[in-house]
Amino acid sequence: MALIVQKYGGTSVATPERIKRVAERIVRAKKEGNQVVVVVSAMGDTTDHLIDLAQKIAAQPDEREMDMLVATGEQASSALMAIAIHTLGEPAISLTGAQVEILTDEIHTKARIVKIGADRIRKELKEGKIVIVAGFQGITREQDITTLGRGGSDTTAVALAAVLAASSCEIYTDVDGVFTADPRIVPEARKLSRIAYEEMLEMASLGAKVLHPRSVEFAKKYGVLIHVRSSFNDQEGTIVTEEDKDMEDILVTGVTHDENQAKVTIVDIPDQPGMAAKIFSTLASANINVDMITQSSSVTETNDISFTVEENSLGKSMALAEQLAKDLHAWGVTSDRDIAKISVVGLGMRSHAGVAARMFETLGAEGINIQMISTSEIKISIIIERAQTAQAVKAIHQAFELGG
Ligand code: ADP
Ligand code: ASP
Ligand code: MG
Repeated sequence: MALIVQKYGGTSVATPERIKRVAERIVRAKKEGNQVVVVVSAMGDTTDHLIDLAQKIAAQPDEREMDMLVATGEQASSALMAIAIHTLGEPAISLTGAQVEILTDEIHTKARIVKIGADRIRKELKEGKIVIVAGFQGITREQDITTLGRGGSDTTAVALAAVLAASSCEIYTDVDGVFTADPRIVPEARKLSRIAYEEMLEMASLGAKVLHPRSVEFAKKYGVLIHVRSSFNDQEGTIVTEEDKDMEDILVTGVTHDENQAKVTIVDIPDQPGMAAKIFSTLASANINVDMITQSSSVTETNDISFTVEENSLGKSMALAEQLAKDLHAWGVTSDRDIAKISVVGLGMRSHAGVAARMFETLGAEGINIQMISTSEIKISIIIERAQTAQAVKAIHQAFELGG
């Protein structure tokens, strides 16, 4: 008997009617002769609403308590899904991250999975039940509830598929698969039938929300095939898998954008050794993920250092940067939320030159100013003004002829 893992995202379980429809799909998979483990996200915008509630009470709520709060969303949807399956006459049980023993580190709101027990899942499957796991959540050694970062239910699903050696891992979402760009911004974006782990990892890390970056890391490490597809139809979606020769021939696979970005600049830092080390070690100790970094060339005796962080860690970053500016005798700190990161990703960049030139020419022709640039083997990212996001993504998508 094959064991399959299915994950349903927030939109797919947003209403009682949708939960009932998804329950039918799950029961169908069981009746086809499979053991079925299901991971669910919170219903619709539940997680956003819970975060809003906390922010109405405190500007920077305690992160342990935030995890207690937002984890309730998935606990509710998993129980509702089990209830829906019961009405169809099938045995099902919902389990929290703690009950499944999804052990994580202690970094609240962006914890990483360190181990999964899964004995309980195996026991329930053996008894013929469909197992519904609350996504996004885990538990520390000290029995504190953690969450895996926004979009983290994908990671719960792929990690479970790896541990249970599932024969497939299906990620059901509200689009038909992985596209050459966000189909909500670029209507002519094309669905990819296959994409390599490495490209998917870059696209996910660079803002393509469709998969949580950590889920792709797990899939790559443990060789889990992911099938990203729609919960609203039966069409084949996108397979995320090992790369092959054909994939290298394609110059650019996708264009992504990420508006959850903000820039911090520490102005007039004395031009001395050790300054950057002090700044970035302080930020790292506070678990702030710094993305791009630029340092102005020093014509005078001081430098400006700019870096980008996720917008939701701007408050924390600014507090640290202001303290650092004092300690390092810099002039001060400025910040800018009005930015977005646009990236092109493709395995073909390893062997073909000219991608950066075409990307920058396209933006120049659109009158879009580039504020920061960073590149790696298979991607180029830039920072621009946020209001120009859609214009930039569309123009670049067209320049590389990615449309269907
Ligand atoms: P779920 O709730 O099912 O996890 P998400 O909202 O997290 O769904 O992810 C799906 C969304 O990702 C889509 O609605 C789409 O707007 C967005 N998206 C961004 N980039 C891409 C892309 N390249 N391909 C497909 N979807 C994308
Ligand atoms: N509910 C969580 C979120 O909105 C996790 C997820 O949907 O994957 O981020
Ligand atoms: Mg998601």
